[in-house]
Amino acid sequence: MKAQQISKITITNDYLQTIYSRIAIITFIIPFLGTIVAFTLLWWVGISWLEVCLLLSMYALTMIGIEVGFHRYFSHRTFQTNTPIRVLLAILGSMAAQGGVIYWVAHHRRHHQYTDLPGDPHSPHLHGEGLMGRLQGFWFSHLGWFFEGEITNSMLFAKDLLRDPVIGKVNQLHQVWVLLGLAIPTVIGGVVTGTWIGALQGLLWGGFVRIFLGQQIISSTNSICHLYGDRPFDSKDQSTNNLWLSIFSVGQSWHNNHHAFPNSAVAGLHWWQLDPSTWVIRVLEFLRLAWDVNVPTKSMMQAKLKKSRIAG
Ligand SMILES: [Zn+2]
Ligand SMILES: [Zn+2]
Repeated sequence: MKAQQISKITITNDYLQTIYSRIAIITFIIPFLGTIVAFTLLWWVGISWLEVCLLLSMYALTMIGIEVGFHRYFSHRTFQTNTPIRVLLAILGSMAAQGGVIYWVAHHRRHHQYTDLPGDPHSPHLHGEGLMGRLQGFWFSHLGWFFEGEITNSMLFAKDLLRDPVIGKVNQLHQVWVLLGLAIPTVIGGVVTGTWIGALQGLLWGGFVRIFLGQQIISSTNSICHLYGDRPFDSKDQSTNNLWLSIFSVGQSWHNNHHAFPNSAVAGLHWWQLDPSTWVIRVLEFLRLAWDVNVPTKSMMQAKLKKSRIAG
């Protein structure tokens, strides 16, 4: 891709890029340091079932916000839903501290438009050959791109969301949702135990450790799921499926399936491909809170299967 084209799909503004990269560093560093403190405190105060429950429940809710909300609904419109659910999904996704919904969607749509080609914001395949190129590619796709402060042009990639006043408001309040995601486990930890140390433990495990783990797992989709794993479909890119990441990524790691069928609300296309986000969408559909749920037909899947798979 020519430099001129790249400048159209990104916003070139030194001041804004510096601000974005600083926010990215803070967003990563604080949960990382909080995670170190949480593990250090294990020696003195240990961890109770309350902290485990706060970690798991906040993790599940915010990852569903990212995968069902930011990804399958806002980025790809793979199903339809009502405004309260849209807002709830946008708020839960924002609590994961991976950027506001419009920023996230614009980057992700650009990733699909230029997957593993120049213009892709986080491909691991554009950093040269050999071991060094592979290591650099892994780092860039996993976290490096996040710190570069590159801003995708939302006018090009997320115009629908910019025109949506409700989602625009949720997006504006992004930092409030991140703080709310930290406040909820802190308050629950403090109220249930009646102690300040309980509140601190709630903040550390339900807040910082949860954000840190979520960032690592979503980043693994960008790095591992474009480098290692299974490629059953001819998706015209380097995306892969990884079973071992499926539960933690709430289904996002069926990434080759997803790149082959980006409009599908279902990423785990076989019964054994665990995909918690699909379970959530199916429950919403059962409750009549989601409709027009897109799923590829058997013949569509057959048509995109790699020839070697059909022969096998
Ligand atoms: Zn991808
Ligand atoms: Zn996608």
